[in-house]
Amino acid sequence: PGTLYVVATPIGNLQDLSPRAAQTLGSVARIAAEDTRHSGRLLTHLGLNVPMLSLHDHNESHRIEQVDRYLVAGEDIALISDAGTPLISDPGFVLVRALRERGRRIVPVPGPSALITALSGAGLPTDRFTFAGFLPAKPAARKQALEQWLAHEATLVFYESPHRIVHTLTALSEVMGARDVVLARELTKTFETFLSGTPGALLAQLEEDPNQARGEFVVMVQGAPPNVEQTQQAFSEDTLLNALLAE
Ligand code: SAM
Repeated sequence: PGTLYVVATPIGNLQDLSPRAAQTLGSVARIAAEDTRHSGRLLTHLGLNVPMLSLHDHNESHRIEQVDRYLVAGEDIALISDAGTPLISDPGFVLVRALRERGRRIVPVPGPSALITALSGAGLPTDRFTFAGFLPAKPAARKQALEQWLAHEATLVFYESPHRIVHTLTALSEVMGARDVVLARELTKTFETFLSGTPGALLAQLEEDPNQARGEFVVMVQGAPPNVEQTQQAFSEDTLLNALLAE
């Protein structure tokens, strides 16, 4: 059987497509893409004319048999998404899991992802981070989701649908208060911007310059300070020790 290549594509800057990704897309018999029209433009840019099939959240499970038939017939297939790394808040995991269960060969071809790109430029702790995907769209569910992360000590990373950034910052300010937040906007594109501050300060900045609220965002939130009780205990032990030493 052939191989399924899971190929990362640019998140805005076409130069970020790796030579290996380009070579893979040029060598496969078919390309499964989230939106064939959108990805068609990337293939045109690469001078490729490879047959495509759509694979999105609504037809993914129906596509499994079809993709597997192509693989069994010896064809190599590439899976791509609209931007970045497939399966990362994008379709593909159902397909990859099903094909793995059937013993097919799956080869990831790594490249851009907004998640890692954002973290690498933010200056928040990255020794531990939690990717929490998209927050719920409804305000109550959104606040509830954030409350669940309140005591979480690792850096939190969210993807953000365009047009919702102000709502998310408002919810962050209500639930988490004065945490350090970094917004990564339009990564790898002309208007790439990093803004940082408390949710309240960021809201004020976006109000002042509404252009800063446009485009695609990754929202990163500094983790909670280490367990408050432990800190207090350590503090009192310290004070006691110092007092004894002073004696
Ligand atoms: N699979 C993609 C990846 O690896 O990054 C993510 C797909 S997800 C459906 C789309 C979300 O990723 C956007 O809503 C935004 O939060 C983030 N994103 C994608 N491209 C971005 C960019 N150039 N700048 C900032 N955020 C981006």
